Amino acid sequence: MPEANDFIRQIIADDRLSPSFEPPVHTRFPPEPNGYLHLGHAKSICLNFGVAKEFDGLCNLRFDDTNPVKEDMEYVNAIRDDVRWLGGNWEDREFYASNYFEKLYAYAEKLIELGCAYVDDLSQEEIRAMRGTLTEPGKESPYRTRSVAENLDLFRRMRAGEFPDGSRVLRAKIDMSSPNIVMRDPTIYRIRHAHHQRTANDWCIYPLYDFAHCLSDSIEHITHSLCTLEFVNNRELYDWILDTLGVYHPKQIEFARLNLTHTILSKRKLIQLVQEKHVTGWDDPRMPTLCGLRRKGVPPEAIHAFCKRIGLARSDSTVEYAMLEFCIREYLNEHAPRLMAVLDPIHVIIDNYPDDQVEYFTMPLFPEDPSFGTREVPFAKHLVIERDDFRENPPKKFHRLSKGAEVRLRYAYLITCTDVVTGSDGTIKELHCTYDPESRGGQAKDGRKVKGTLHWLSANHAKKAVVRLYDQLFTKANPEDVEPGQTFIDNLNPHSLTLCDALIEPELHTLPVGKTVQFERVGYFCKDPDSTEDCAVFNRTATLRDSWAKQEKKGE
Ligand code: ATP
Ligand code: MG
Repeated sequence: MPEANDFIRQIIADDRLSPSFEPPVHTRFPPEPNGYLHLGHAKSICLNFGVAKEFDGLCNLRFDDTNPVKEDMEYVNAIRDDVRWLGGNWEDREFYASNYFEKLYAYAEKLIELGCAYVDDLSQEEIRAMRGTLTEPGKESPYRTRSVAENLDLFRRMRAGEFPDGSRVLRAKIDMSSPNIVMRDPTIYRIRHAHHQRTANDWCIYPLYDFAHCLSDSIEHITHSLCTLEFVNNRELYDWILDTLGVYHPKQIEFARLNLTHTILSKRKLIQLVQEKHVTGWDDPRMPTLCGLRRKGVPPEAIHAFCKRIGLARSDSTVEYAMLEFCIREYLNEHAPRLMAVLDPIHVIIDNYPDDQVEYFTMPLFPEDPSFGTREVPFAKHLVIERDDFRENPPKKFHRLSKGAEVRLRYAYLITCTDVVTGSDGTIKELHCTYDPESRGGQAKDGRKVKGTLHWLSANHAKKAVVRLYDQLFTKANPEDVEPGQTFIDNLNPHSLTLCDALIEPELHTLPVGKTVQFERVGYFCKDPDSTEDCAVFNRTATLRDSWAKQEKKGE
């Protein structure tokens, strides 16, 4: 029995004990294929597939493809990839609301026959105007009293394509004075002479979400239909349709949607970012899309850990982006191999090292876990280190390199800086150092303590790379917080991407695309598909901020 650590799992656990419950627990993830999946969807995927797994149940993937105008096969394929990437397994249960168009149509006719639906000739604007408000009841349509026979005839002719778009709709006949506006004779079918990606031109009328969704759940024998809070008011309609038709009735339960600081989680707005080219595409690593996060190097396990940590609530809140970064760092800290790259190189010459000598050091890919294996790293007279690891005027307790100081080159030798060569513009051109030949491996024979350890590369063996340093896509925690006349676009961070020419160890040059590693002391980076034979491209997945802060404190 799984732990009931949130209110949804508690409800399901209780339901399973009821004598009328028919196993298995059955959930579904119901995306509309009108955009790419984002982190909000990840929350729903982790919940629906997670619950199914924990309760020995099943979870379907159902495409809610009831709107032929905005939907596309490109999105269907991308959604499949993303759900699979997060570990969602729907086996052979890939369904489409459009699979049920014939059944849904039959249910609509049945509602008409029951006197519970009618064809309305009012325009959409008129219907809206007559709907009433929270304080005023709505007005009944003059077409509300049509006979069953007339409604059936008109609805069949709607299906046969006799009427133009927008000329008529089918509405459920419920209650125009219901305190719940959703129940004021909602539209359940509309005319749309449009090509559908799966049913082509078979249909010119399409069911609306509220009608298609509950009945799709019912047809698939979903036991628990988990959705976000904005559907609380729609639950009454969900229940009404199923009860009126007397069909199998899943339980709808609402939970709070995920909101994340510095991010937009709305497909409509993400589409705008792509179409207006504020980002390079859906999979731009700055996007909160699952394909963007994947390209950035975020492992699916980190997203699962994140979803677990934020939990499920019954009221909306906003999660700090830093929480996601924490989960990414926490996972990669334990799983990412460590290699060396120098982002802002400064040339180091080891004066007492033989000119043409090259030594190879066997370095662990993960110091704490030998099962990761090792690689050979070349060492020679000409090296590079990080420019920031040298100071002409070092502050107190600076344990990195400065003139006269001794540091350890990671796994290699102890070196001491003897001279600094400065160019005419004042910038440092190169550092001259000596090495202690007795310190192979990085330890002094005489036992003297050397605190600082730097990463380094052999200048002539290092390969070129372009490194993309990403920052938040939006400057404000809430991108919707705008001045009058502005939109969220005005809150885009102009510095969300910084490119940097870096040097990397040879092993990183041959690393497979899509692999995330730690550049020691620098951060986590993922090899990008834009990499070429000549130049690797790496995306920064996350900084080392936490451990870095600690190192700085220790003065390393
Ligand atoms: P958007 O607002 O981005 O257009 P949507 O809700 O219209 O999203 P759907 O494709 O209909 O997108 O969503 C599929 C499933 O994912 C639904 O069950 C929905 O409740 C869930 N979902 C979407 N956004 C979030 C979110 N931010 N947090 C949690 N679940 C979400
Ligand atoms: Mg939706």
